[in-house]
Amino acid sequence: MKGAKLKTVAVHAGAVLKDSTAVPVVAPVHVSAVSYFQSAEELDGALDGADFVYGRISQANTRLLEDAIAALEGAEDCVTYASGMAALKALFDAQGLKAGDRVVLPLDGYGVTRALYKRLCAERGVELHALKLSAADAPARIESLRPRFVLAESVTNPLLSVPDLRALARATHAVGASLAVDATFPSPYHQQALAHGADYAVQSTTKWLNGHSDAMGGSVSGSRERLSGLRAARLQEGAVLGPFEAWLTLRGLRTLAVRMQAHAEHAAHVARRLEASPLLTRVYYPGLASHEDHRVARELLTAGFGGMLSFELKGAGRPECFRFLESVKLARPAPSLGDVCSLVMHAASASARRMTPEEREAAGIRESLIRVSVGLEDPDDLADDLLQAAAAAVG
Ligand SMILES: *Cc1c(COP(=O)(O)O)cnc(C)c1O
Repeated sequence: MKGAKLKTVAVHAGAVLKDSTAVPVVAPVHVSAVSYFQSAEELDGALDGADFVYGRISQANTRLLEDAIAALEGAEDCVTYASGMAALKALFDAQGLKAGDRVVLPLDGYGVTRALYKRLCAERGVELHALKLSAADAPARIESLRPRFVLAESVTNPLLSVPDLRALARATHAVGASLAVDATFPSPYHQQALAHGADYAVQSTTKWLNGHSDAMGGSVSGSRERLSGLRAARLQEGAVLGPFEAWLTLRGLRTLAVRMQAHAEHAAHVARRLEASPLLTRVYYPGLASHEDHRVARELLTAGFGGMLSFELKGAGRPECFRFLESVKLARPAPSLGDVCSLVMHAASASARRMTPEEREAAGIRESLIRVSVGLEDPDDLADDLLQAAAAAVG
């Protein structure tokens, strides 16, 4: 496996469980919450993590998934969680932040993360600073703020801005802080955040890694040393991924490379067709030359620019956007992403719903913004569908 390329890793990593003498009380999928051993000594060792004995300590299906995600992220280790938000919460807690410490997160990132970190920081007397991390002055602002912890999104949700992770990592490390990157949008297929200097790579595995909208999950990948505290905390706090979710996610992940290749090709095609429409005032896709971070995206994303895009419906407010959602025939108006089927969403009322109107305004998330997760349908069929819905809404 050493030196194998991503496509190979996606198919083979996490296929073989390390030797186990555990006898499950219930047969696999390893749904058994507890196992027993012939020798009490083995049980004793298992309780210290040497084998699978109790689902909250470690579990065979989640361990296989963790091995696979770590390999895809180019990480030593990975810890999975019951959802992406549980992963982001655990990561925050692991920083041991105290009153007066500072945390930085993206101005234009995922609204639920923003709301969660706002609450956690307020509870602890930690200062939260929302910065436009794709701006040229972001590294300098981090150096002058001297935060303890920086969370970036490698491609932001929903505006698809692309920060230069290399510069953010240099600035963050220069002040002795840690850099975590929510890399859900590009998935490890388009970007390995750790290779660009991040200390942690986070995934909502609910999205592209699973790929079929049939299981929630989250992961944090990084060095064994950094993750040991997260693993120990998860044992006590219990936000573990269930075995069937892990099994489904691992099955979905097997086809990550071929799916992402197609999602990205389709998204690029759809973005070009949308850009030509007079009904849309802006199309955000990092692969378009008109995208403000196109140059950085070309340096930091590989094998394409992902399956996400968004656009502004001309002159639209919320009612016109809702009419758009009711007018699509092929895409589904569902608030998620990463499925084989195309999903459309009104950003201000869904992914950015938990942000205040002022926060949305500062982030540039307007009422007219529609986000699209491009599926595997024929891309011209999808573009036709989006354009007819745009005509029904604002034509
Ligand atoms: C969906 C999402 C999350 C949250 O993940 P859940 O699995 O829904 O908890 C976090 N970050 C980004 C960028 C997301 O798109």
